[in-house]
Amino acid sequence: MSFTSLGLKQPILLGVEAAGYEAPTPIQAQAIPLARSGRDIVGLGQTGSGKTAAYGLPMLDRLVGGQPGLRGLILVPTRELCVQVAENLRVFAQFSGLHVRTAFGGIPLGVQEAAIKRGLDVLVACPGRLLDHLQFNTVTLDRIEMLVLDEADRMLDMGFMPQIGRILSRMPRERQNMLFSATMPSDIERLVRDHFGEFQRIQVGELSQAATTITHRFESVAATEKERRLEQILRSRSGTVLVFVKTKKRCEELGRKLQRAGLPADSIHGDKSAESRHVVLQGFIRGKVRHLVATDVAARGIDVSDIGLVVNFEMPRAVEDYVHRVGRTGRAGTEGEALSLVGKMEQGIQRQVLEHLAKTSTNARIEVDGRVVSGGRPKERAPRVEAADPVREAEAGDGEERAPERPRGRGRERDRGTVSDERARPRETRSPRETAPPRPPVRRAADRAVTLSSAPSSPRESGFGDGIEGPAPGRGRPGAGGSGPRRR
Ligand code: AMP
Repeated sequence: MSFTSLGLKQPILLGVEAAGYEAPTPIQAQAIPLARSGRDIVGLGQTGSGKTAAYGLPMLDRLVGGQPGLRGLILVPTRELCVQVAENLRVFAQFSGLHVRTAFGGIPLGVQEAAIKRGLDVLVACPGRLLDHLQFNTVTLDRIEMLVLDEADRMLDMGFMPQIGRILSRMPRERQNMLFSATMPSDIERLVRDHFGEFQRIQVGELSQAATTITHRFESVAATEKERRLEQILRSRSGTVLVFVKTKKRCEELGRKLQRAGLPADSIHGDKSAESRHVVLQGFIRGKVRHLVATDVAARGIDVSDIGLVVNFEMPRAVEDYVHRVGRTGRAGTEGEALSLVGKMEQGIQRQVLEHLAKTSTNARIEVDGRVVSGGRPKERAPRVEAADPVREAEAGDGEERAPERPRGRGRERDRGTVSDERARPRETRSPRETAPPRPPVRRAADRAVTLSSAPSSPRESGFGDGIEGPAPGRGRPGAGGSGPRRR
């Protein structure tokens, strides 16, 4: 399939060509025709599958040639993602005459305002900073035709739902909506039910396969017995253990309980400040913290390659989350273990996970309540692959310490005068340096396959994206970066 066959208009096709994209990824092939037909879309799954173009191209296609003004809004959780999405969109939009701007905390409102005054068709924004702009009438949402909520579960986890509610109330009800999320917590289900029309659900990326070097154990445990059982398990092990729970509250409580029980434990979740998450993560990498309790979203930033055991203290909501959780162990061909403590209410999701494993991980060893249900032969111990310097790896991966106030590299350069904000000018009017379009890295299919099936490790995908923007604590001072990083 080619992009031409998706029916995109000529200026947008030229932008796609400039980006170096030859053929649509599966999510693009699915989403673009649906979006062009005006349908609302809910895309469920992990990042890295080409979803920026999946929503960005139909948005630009819809707006090109129309009356100028803010008509396309993309809400994202972090500044970093904001810059990255805008950068991609500007490449696609460079022959369309459409202006793509950004709004994120940490730089003066006035800088963004000046860029907006030069023209605005699509705004990529973090919710807190967008509310600042609305408060100061720098932008209005009266003419929004298309809304995208990107990484919706991360926005939820970072406490943005009230802000999103306020933003939604400022735009026309008659509009097209798209939402992308790795998981589908009930708050997001509700948001979709309340604010979307009839929508089409699509799978972002493949439901990946868990490594076959992982042994999956499921143990029926009464909810009231889980803590005692977990303690017993942790005391019996010498290596690192990652323990998953579903909520931030539970995560905090369990981490504290384990500490009180004298275990080298800590917790990591979205309510902790960026600094304290960094400290916890470093402790885990260096072995000071051996038992780390985490939520699904926070765990996306954990790029530690030699976790011996993953415990599902609470079963995840979706099979996809199970695959991602257990993907933290058994990396690079090493042998890993996953143990799920399954309460009575969690038997449904256990069944779904077992069905999925039966289909996709046929050689993996699976035990349910001590009974081997698959892969009964004792496995040869896989050679333990020495991890690259884990501290360096993690430091490169979480991006937290080096959180730039402003985007680095290309993004930063552009932000100095052009980005927030660069007008999408026709190629002929650009200098030779500019005419070489800033290409989002073109990936080969093989690279993408790796991205789809492995745990995310880039700062963008991690739970610790730079410049995490939290709900603006006290807004009112333009330029004060009221919606800057949340520090609790
Ligand atoms: P995304 O999920 O939008 O962040 O995209 C992940 C990566 O895949 C980015 O580096 C994109 O530039 C790249 N990409 C997205 N769509 C395509 C495509 N159709 N052909 C080649 N690379 C792509």
